[in-house]
Amino acid sequence: MYFHIMTLFPEMVLGGLRTSIIGRAEEKGCISIEAVNIRDYTTDKHKKVDDYTYGGGAGMLMQAQPVYDCWRALDERIAGQKTRVIYVTPQGEVFSQKKAAELSMEEDLIFLCGHYEGIDERVLDEIVTDYISIGDYVLTGGELPAMVMIDAIARLVPGVLNNGESAQTESHADGLLEYPQYSRPEVWHEKRVPDVLLSGHHANIEKWRLEQALERTRERRPDMYEAYIREHPVKPSKK
Ligand code: SAM
Repeated sequence: MYFHIMTLFPEMVLGGLRTSIIGRAEEKGCISIEAVNIRDYTTDKHKKVDDYTYGGGAGMLMQAQPVYDCWRALDERIAGQKTRVIYVTPQGEVFSQKKAAELSMEEDLIFLCGHYEGIDERVLDEIVTDYISIGDYVLTGGELPAMVMIDAIARLVPGVLNNGESAQTESHADGLLEYPQYSRPEVWHEKRVPDVLLSGHHANIEKWRLEQALERTRERRPDMYEAYIREHPVKPSKK
């Protein structure tokens, strides 16, 4: 899968994404990440990419021309496909695991990162296919949101995680939060690992994990719990 990021700060996104699991996945060839500097496409002789907003108001706005020319060059290079262009914006649909799964089916994705007060509406109208937010708050730029989304999408691409199963059992994959987990030693600060996890009884472990996942979801995310219970005829067993 190919991720293309249009940004004014390529070093920020590449520095953040080319580490740890996502960085290794790129080295293995499971994914490819490129960051294109929108500033390289400005026709302004001082390399400016922003200007005042019509009608007054605080702050500067990214201009249409460099964003459009940057996208056109990228789109021509990804030739022959209708590549989705995601504008990361606090005005978009809120990102979710479901959205990550949907987007992980694409061959290429273009992310457009805004800065300052955002981007001239006219170029957004022409090139953007999806408006996506990472939550109801405002950041200074789109680089962190793009990194968040790319990380969540990339780990669903086959081969990125060493253990493909782990993405399927994690929080949000099936509408529940994940059950609690433990590693060695068996006793730490006088707290014992639950006996069932040491029993080697696979069916009992699965049952315990589902109960714990239900209980944790009920406590921490009653909204998710209600939705899950509506869709699944499973009743949590009493402790
Ligand atoms: N003036 C814009 C508004 O009120 O909607 C906010 C602009 S924000 C300061 C600058 C850029 O950061 C945006 O263009 C967007 O790309 C990015 N951004 C900020 N918050 C975001 C969020 N919650 N999700 C996704 N992108 C965000």
